Amino acid sequence: MNSAPNAPSSPKKASLSGILEMLPDFSLRSRNSFGFEALAEQAYSITDAEQIGAVMEGIDATGLPWRVLGGGSNVILAPTLPGVTLLMDITGQTITHQDGSGTVITVGAGVNWHDFVLWTLDHGLPGLENLALIPGTVGAAPIQNIGAYGVEVGEYIQSIKAFDCESKALVTIAASDCAFTYRNSLFKENPHRYIITRVHFYLPAAWSPRLRYADLAAAFANRHAPTAEEVMVAVCKIRNRKLPDPKLIGNAGSFFQNPIVEKAQYLALLKQFPELVSYPEGDEGSGKRKLAAGWMIDRCGFKGVRAGAVGVYQHQALVLVNHGGGNADSVLALAKTIQDKVQDTFGVTLAIEPIRY
Ligand SMILES: Cc1cc2nc3c(=O)[nH]c(=O)nc-3n(C[C@H](O)[C@H](O)[C@H](O)COP(=O)(O)OP(=O)(O)OC[C@H]3O[C@@H](n4cnc5c(N)ncnc54)[C@H](O)[C@@H]3O)c2cc1C
Repeated sequence: MNSAPNAPSSPKKASLSGILEMLPDFSLRSRNSFGFEALAEQAYSITDAEQIGAVMEGIDATGLPWRVLGGGSNVILAPTLPGVTLLMDITGQTITHQDGSGTVITVGAGVNWHDFVLWTLDHGLPGLENLALIPGTVGAAPIQNIGAYGVEVGEYIQSIKAFDCESKALVTIAASDCAFTYRNSLFKENPHRYIITRVHFYLPAAWSPRLRYADLAAAFANRHAPTAEEVMVAVCKIRNRKLPDPKLIGNAGSFFQNPIVEKAQYLALLKQFPELVSYPEGDEGSGKRKLAAGWMIDRCGFKGVRAGAVGVYQHQALVLVNHGGGNADSVLALAKTIQDKVQDTFGVTLAIEPIRY
């Protein structure tokens, strides 16, 4: 007897949790910014932190593979995701404390990041404006400590509420224990340990614009000190100029991290490539430099190059794009070609930023 392919009653597809609906063979096409065709074998929309324990019990009992997905703007998805995919859909943002020195805001992991930045500005709470227009969810922001234009989100996080898959309980982790560094954190280092449910932000009342990055400084050259709203608008304009809109052309933002090298290697490279673009990294005295991976890829001649359905964005060599019909294999093959060439030319290894599932 033939049963319907996605029949919820089929044993393979039975819900792992009595309280949550299971979404079988759930298409993630519109939930990954590369726009790859990807089917989640079993998806669960998590709208409340309390639901996680029940699903995790089911996962432990069955031994199924699993992963968490926010907005899908920093992932490379395979055509099929076996086992369980948890869709983080916890919403809501509230001011939980406010005094003369600052404001604490508690935000659900599923809230859209840019909407939250706009919400803070609407409520007269500056601080996050340099991070405007970064795609994705609030819950994913701490994972790689999102950063842009000289600001990292970790600087404004007070603590994080998460389901701890080891102790099977909801825990609160202070920012000082989150090990935030450049595009990294405790959560990225321990990918199957914590499921972030809420983030507590602390925005100090004292504020001044942070315009260290050349593009932003140029936007306000010869002008009065801008307001946070003006900085946000400028950041959006710069980003729209430089980065492709995932709604129009699939991408995951920066595909490679900017490599950090020791002073000696930096000086040797500078001798060979006097126009090398780099930024100081870490403590003043360390001499470490963050090299502009986009510049190196451009120097190797990849900007605008196309490899079938995928390619390197014509205006920013750090961004790989899906022109339509691409998949994880095709984008990773192109990435490998780029990594090999950069290694041969500069002796530097480029690490891939998005997570592969
Ligand atoms: C056009 C474009 C521009 C970008 N610009 C920037 C930029 O300027 N700076 C920057 O830092 N990043 C940038 N990114 C990358 C991306 O926006 C961020 O990494 C963002 O935080 C990803 O959020 P998401 O909800 O889409 O996460 P997803 O892609 O869904 O997930 C990313 C990782 O986080 C994990 N995860 C997600 N939610 C949770 C949770 N609640 N608990 C535990 N784990 C979770 C996932 O399992 C996965 O490992 C850009 C991406 C695009 C497409």
